[in-house]
Amino acid sequence: MKKVLSILSLDNFCFSILKSWCFNGLLLMFIMVISVPLKAQEEDIFGIDTKARSKTRRSDSGLGNVTRGIISKISLELSGGYGQHYNNMDFISSDPSVYPISPVLEDASSTDINSGEVVSFDSKSSVIPLNAGVRIDLFGILSVGGGYGREFGNMAMLESDQHHFNFSNDKYVFDKLYGTVGLVLYDARRRRAYLNWKYKKYSSVNTYKQAEQKIRMRQNYPWRFTLEGEFGNITVQESYDAALTATEPYYGIGLRIERELSEYTKVFIKPNVEFRKFNYQLPTMEESQIIDQNLYTVNIGLSLRLPGTKRCKIGGCGVKMKHLHDGIEYRGSSIWNMQNRKIGQWY
Ligand SMILES: [Zn+2]
Repeated sequence: MKKVLSILSLDNFCFSILKSWCFNGLLLMFIMVISVPLKAQEEDIFGIDTKARSKTRRSDSGLGNVTRGIISKISLELSGGYGQHYNNMDFISSDPSVYPISPVLEDASSTDINSGEVVSFDSKSSVIPLNAGVRIDLFGILSVGGGYGREFGNMAMLESDQHHFNFSNDKYVFDKLYGTVGLVLYDARRRRAYLNWKYKKYSSVNTYKQAEQKIRMRQNYPWRFTLEGEFGNITVQESYDAALTATEPYYGIGLRIERELSEYTKVFIKPNVEFRKFNYQLPTMEESQIIDQNLYTVNIGLSLRLPGTKRCKIGGCGVKMKHLHDGIEYRGSSIWNMQNRKIGQWY
């Protein structure tokens, strides 16, 4: 429960900070992803940044250095999207007449559902999900995280061949608290490993292929693909029917496609599917009906990695790259920019 609360308060914290710019920026960022050409960015020829990153200290104290190392693995993110949910209910009751069921045709004869008869109802509606979350990178292989989401949905009445199952309202608001586990499928590191393997078959005297490999290995690869599982609980804020409860946890799976904008910022798009169960129970009845819901969503989000490296504030130091002062690494640029860009790039 403590863990749940800490995730909650962290979300609120990051929500209040990021809310203002994110909703305006989200669309702009998405347009940027599409329009920014895939520029082949070579690593800095002096190798300052890559050398500095792994070996240098980020703080005077040992504890501070460790803390900053951990902080730099944490990302905060916001996302929003669109989805559709498909609902199915295999209705069976000892007393069908107490349910809000009406015949499709008013004058149709013998359309009453009998006690114990199974009638399959379904429906399809749309939803707008919003999410605030946190992700922690584990060695570039896994990412674990969690978040808080709110979804604004429509709910159409359930339909069968001959009946409608009517709800008291056609809109709802659900909140969800969830955890995630992601497995990195492909990224810059895996691409380098793949290129190493691919060029192995060429002879070491094939200078053309050797040069080609070198160039390709140096290219900046800003993409990352992660398979992400999700599990959580739903809290009904505004229901489409008072008889509805969400008692069971849900689970989901999605593919997260991320693109770096800088070392600390990235945008992502995530197609996702969630499997959920809801209970529909009238207060006068012992029995309950189960509504199975499959929710398909696509979310677009912005992710901000916490900078473990302090910004250089030394007067007169105009270095734009990551650099050292007294053995401690500093950033010369804002987190929105690439840190090791060269003259003429990204100004
Ligand atoms: Zn400096």
